[in-house]
Amino acid sequence: MPKVKTKIKKYKRIHWGKEKHWPKPTAGETCHDCGVLPGKLHVSDVGFICDVEECPICYRQLLSCGHAKDIFPGYPKRRSPVSQMSLKEFTDWVYNKTKGG
Ligand SMILES: [Zn+2]
Ligand SMILES: [Zn+2]
Repeated sequence: MPKVKTKIKKYKRIHWGKEKHWPKPTAGETCHDCGVLPGKLHVSDVGFICDVEECPICYRQLLSCGHAKDIFPGYPKRRSPVSQMSLKEFTDWVYNKTKGG
């Protein structure tokens, strides 16, 4: 059988403050789950989906709508790094994820 290249469709993720179903954050109001500032992408990846992040496919909660695997190929990772972390480690992890922009 010839090899077929599967093309992964890239979805445009929804930035904090652009959600359809959340009230607009005030200036400087960080996401209550992942802590990013308005206009930034939520801190989500194959091991962790932000509570607030909206699905760019169906506009429901990405965490629960089932499309996370389309946005993050490989999701869900079997062991969420976050669930293994202490609060301090988690805070540092979020900081490291967000400081680059
Ligand atoms: Zn968030
Ligand atoms: Zn969805």
